[in-house]
Amino acid sequence: MPASERYDAIVVGAGLSGLYQLYRLRELGLRTRVIEAADGVGGTWYWNRYPGARCDVQSMSYSYSFSPDLEREWTWTEKYPTQPEILRYINHVAARFDLWPDITFGTRVISTHYDDATGRWTVRTDTAGEFSAQFLIMATGCLSAPKLPEIPGLERYGGRTHQTANWGNDEVRFDGLRVGVIGTGSSGIQSIPIIADQAADLAVFQRTPNFSMPAGNRPLSADEVADMKANYRDWRALQRTSRAGIPGPESMEFAVAAAPEERTAKFQAAWDRGELTALIGTYIDILIDPVANEAAAEFVRDKIRATVHDPEVAETLCPRTFPVGTKRMCLDSGYYQTYNRPNVHLVDLRKTPLVEFTTTGIRTTQTEYELDAIVFATGFDAMTGALTAINVQGRNGLDLASQWSGGPRNYLGLAMAGFPNLFTITGPLSPSVLSNMVVSIEQHVDFIADCIVYMGEHGYDVIEATQNAQDDWVQHVADVGSFTLFPKAESWYTGANVPGKPRVFMPYIGGVGEFRLKCDAVAAIWYEGFTMTRADQTVIA
Ligand SMILES: Cc1cc2nc3c(=O)[nH]c(=O)nc-3n(C[C@H](O)[C@H](O)[C@H](O)COP(=O)(O)OP(=O)(O)OC[C@H]3O[C@@H](n4cnc5c(N)ncnc54)[C@H](O)[C@@H]3O)c2cc1C
Repeated sequence: MPASERYDAIVVGAGLSGLYQLYRLRELGLRTRVIEAADGVGGTWYWNRYPGARCDVQSMSYSYSFSPDLEREWTWTEKYPTQPEILRYINHVAARFDLWPDITFGTRVISTHYDDATGRWTVRTDTAGEFSAQFLIMATGCLSAPKLPEIPGLERYGGRTHQTANWGNDEVRFDGLRVGVIGTGSSGIQSIPIIADQAADLAVFQRTPNFSMPAGNRPLSADEVADMKANYRDWRALQRTSRAGIPGPESMEFAVAAAPEERTAKFQAAWDRGELTALIGTYIDILIDPVANEAAAEFVRDKIRATVHDPEVAETLCPRTFPVGTKRMCLDSGYYQTYNRPNVHLVDLRKTPLVEFTTTGIRTTQTEYELDAIVFATGFDAMTGALTAINVQGRNGLDLASQWSGGPRNYLGLAMAGFPNLFTITGPLSPSVLSNMVVSIEQHVDFIADCIVYMGEHGYDVIEATQNAQDDWVQHVADVGSFTLFPKAESWYTGANVPGKPRVFMPYIGGVGEFRLKCDAVAAIWYEGFTMTRADQTVIA
């Protein structure tokens, strides 16, 4: 292994972001290497193999749009694709575009620093030595740093443990076992009905109930697929200009001005559509006005009460501590019905918090639960966790984690002042997790690739976001966010699920379409907000 392998670009991560970035950079003739901690491609869809893992955006939308040939030859089978189907798709993409030879698997980037003198990044890994590159692109994912519950004693627990976000490749069954699931976010809501089917007894440990709607999943018919394929270009154009990368009716009406019956009818139609954004898209004020929001929230609570037979359990499942839509909505297949099973028990951690793991299970302030297996569906240090886990040092040793100690700071979610030639794909302060992420990923990757082309054409070697542009963007993201109800929720969007993490609403709520226009405008006016420099240090503002 040479002291430092030299590349034009290093991409960290081989999920949907990293793979498309590799494809684009290689097309441009850049010598590129992808470094990936996992032993395969797929990112989220490699790691999250828990039972019931499924995408909440429809399959024909949650897919790359960059290759019409790829669109034609791949056929999705269900409205919402399962994790295995998405992973097969991503592997197909890697094979079809011959991406594997340029990826180093089973290797984690642990630190990286920028050298002012050479204008290059040195990247250190755990198992494959050092790499050096002009450009460093973090495709490390927004939901890729899993976390465990903050209670003591896990090391003494003698039963089986599983983490939804790091499930492993082997088939896991729970037949005849006493199982505990901790967490009722999206992964918990997807896996609980399936685990309940197998387990002798299932205890669900819930701190915060979430709003979930039935996905209405079903096989796609051959006609539907053919129709979509015939109109794919128009659909992709709609995705790119929509609010969340999920085209659908965008209401201009106000819930507070609507008659109650009319409102209920609209909520019901949205409920029946089984789409992530349907309910919050019914009226323009749902995510802005607490009164409008409460009407939609109560509609969902009524559905929970109508589904769950035990009124006390139903009330415990009803979310009340945050406005609907301000935590990620969930789509489910039979989630609330699961609580009508005799082998399923809901434990309300707000009333009886977790105290510790014991050798045989979990103890709350009230009861000790004997468990043969525990499943952690406890989420992620979202948006910043994977980035700050790497020791990133920019110009003059500027430390990324310290720079972000009060919350993430960057320009367009893409680049940071003091960190030249470093890009992040769907970073915090971009629409990312509030969107169909494939749409956002392609937009960011294309921006980065086009920017590198521009630099090459004009003889620039170094690009860096200016401090002013960064400050203005951070302020703009906060201003737009504060206009909504989002900051009111204790959510992973605001860092509230990680003790000690600063409370900042991290995604950009302005919308995918608006964000794209903003980025296009930045590029059109010579990458406004960035400084570009030639190797001889000529600065072009
Ligand atoms: C359970 C679950 C369900 C989801 N459902 C949806 C959905 O319905 N719709 C939607 O739009 N999005 C969904 N997402 C978000 C999903 O993460 C994105 O859609 C998309 O897959 C992100 O791709 P990515 O390549 O940017 O990141 P990831 O897929 O997270 O890939 C990042 C990769 O970087 C690697 N990596 C990170 N740090 C390092 C390091 N230091 N060194 C080496 N490698 C590193 C990781 O191992 C990982 O493979 C979901 C996420 C989860 C967890």
